[in-house]
Amino acid sequence: MTLILSEEKIRPQSLDQFIGQDDLRANLKVYLDAAKTRGQHLDHTLLYGNPGLGKTTLAQIMASELGVNIVSTSGPVLERSADLAAILTNLGKNDLLFIDEIHRMPANVEEILYPAMEDFCLDLIIGQGPGARTVKIELEPFTLVGATTRIGLLTSPLRDRFGVICRLDFYSPRELAAIVLRSARVSSLDVSDDGALEIGKRSRGTPRIANRLLRRVRDFAQVAKKKRIDSAIAAAALKRMDVDSLGLDQMDRNILECIINQFSGGPVGVKTLAVACSEEVRTLEDIYEPYLIQCGFLKRTPRGRVVTARAYKHLKIIRQGLLSVNPQAE
Ligand code: ADP
Repeated sequence: MTLILSEEKIRPQSLDQFIGQDDLRANLKVYLDAAKTRGQHLDHTLLYGNPGLGKTTLAQIMASELGVNIVSTSGPVLERSADLAAILTNLGKNDLLFIDEIHRMPANVEEILYPAMEDFCLDLIIGQGPGARTVKIELEPFTLVGATTRIGLLTSPLRDRFGVICRLDFYSPRELAAIVLRSARVSSLDVSDDGALEIGKRSRGTPRIANRLLRRVRDFAQVAKKKRIDSAIAAAALKRMDVDSLGLDQMDRNILECIINQFSGGPVGVKTLAVACSEEVRTLEDIYEPYLIQCGFLKRTPRGRVVTARAYKHLKIIRQGLLSVNPQAE
């Protein structure tokens, strides 16, 4: 059995290979077909959703479906407006510019993007002081695809300049199982349907995590000399990795237990929580909290984060004041 699960191989290359997000996919297909028929660039598109849900993959698929080049960069890399100007002036007709983490682009860089998006031109200021003058540079028509995990942090002038705004949701366990089976197939790995579902159920709704867990389960299967990954070997490997039945790992449990033990279940502010868990605020907010909220284990309230009764039950912790409740019996 070939055991290579390279990123290049497993990343879907076309809309047909892209699993899940059915409504988004159907709409995108219409926009892509319409742009192709007109022979024009696609409207600027904003993709938003949690990390690992397929934003970069979709941008690459859009470029390949349109048959155009893709140039990729990211918000924090574009430190000066000249960095973005250099990229924009090098774009060919109808090319696709992908800016990941677009919410982290500095304000001065964002400003030169407005006329570029709207009129396909750049207003560059040459020189300083009274002698400064503005030079207009025409650009080729292009499509900007922006990706963000935080649509709320985008300024409204920037958000309003996107013609298409798409939200990516968490995937169902069945969709994730289909992703695992596809990744296994293109890597000549033998995974049973129930093995894929076992991995899918514990992937926190996220394809990137499904592929990562598949790689680790493959390691366990290989060492155990198992040719086929079935649900038993997947469950045993995931248990060894400390991934529980809902996909929570040690850090998720640390966060919940920290709120319960140190802050009596909350509310606690995110900054205090980050210090208590030795984690960065952004990592807490972007990576851990969305899934804990989705599971109904954590609530964001105006006064801070609060752990829910459901989390106590999952962690099998008896809540103070509810000492009569026996979580084992529920
Ligand atoms: P993001 O840009 O949102 O962080 P990526 O596009 O980099 O996420 O996707 C992460 C990984 O998950 C990639 O390896 C990609 O192959 C896989 N993936 C994402 N979405 C899908 C999907 N719908 N179908 C199959 N694989 C997917």
